[in-house]
Amino acid sequence: MTCSQVLPAALEVQGVSHAYGARMALDNVSLTVPQARFTVLLGLNGAGKTTLFSLVTRLFHTRQGSIRVLGHRVDQAPGEALRLLGVVFQARTLDLDLSVRENLLYHAALHGIGGRAARRQADAALQEVELAGRARDPARRLSGGQMRRVEIARALMHRPRLLVLDEPTVGLDVAARAAILRHVRGLVRERGVAVLWATHLLDEIEADDLIVVLHKGRVLAAGEIGHVVAESGAADIHDAFSRLTGEARVTGEAQEKT
Ligand code: ATP
Repeated sequence: MTCSQVLPAALEVQGVSHAYGARMALDNVSLTVPQARFTVLLGLNGAGKTTLFSLVTRLFHTRQGSIRVLGHRVDQAPGEALRLLGVVFQARTLDLDLSVRENLLYHAALHGIGGRAARRQADAALQEVELAGRARDPARRLSGGQMRRVEIARALMHRPRLLVLDEPTVGLDVAARAAILRHVRGLVRERGVAVLWATHLLDEIEADDLIVVLHKGRVLAAGEIGHVVAESGAADIHDAFSRLTGEARVTGEAQEKT
């Protein structure tokens, strides 16, 4: 028996479809995010990334197919599944009038963590994202990159095993993007957190990541980068993406959304 048969995947999506009226946003999507790996969900605008995140986080009800977090179906055992899941949405979700620390404590309270434990965890989390000095500032005084770091710290307050992030670097400058990527990769390496990182930027991918190429609601390829490149007969992942999707490459320099 292999290791993957013993350990449930951090996230397992099987045969999921979702339509907005007549518009099919996800068409029979299946993908796996293994534990303790950094998996990139790569897709251009409109690929269906946010729709998938909405289903995983139960903002939308899954009508077709199934979604499991560490073996728990999100529709049948939402309490267990959501307890193991941390989320950073594409849109900013901090309460700008609360202090940075209050944003974390509020989230902790929603997860049943209160009092001294919550304060200790909030302070440790802010230290980790190098924002301990800003704990008492209203969130609105932070830069975009700092807000993202607080959102990541907040998503980790209840110690999830799976962290999903929907285009977390959109709108950030190169240095802020690099800092966030470095921090999240460190969570995988040092804490064994599984990460699903949605992006449309090929230059956010590293050689030992796993990748899922989502295009117009369908998974076109998935697996180790080397495997995806070889399967598509390409020279590198940029070339593979172009061949798979018929679209030109997208890098950080061209990150403005269309
Ligand atoms: P982006 O990077 O632009 O956010 P995405 O990969 O997250 O793109 P989705 O936002 O999931 O993609 O959109 C997938 C498809 O569903 C697109 O064709 C989009 O126009 C459509 N869509 C998304 N939300 C809605 C909605 N509320 N009503 C109708 N169509 C929608």
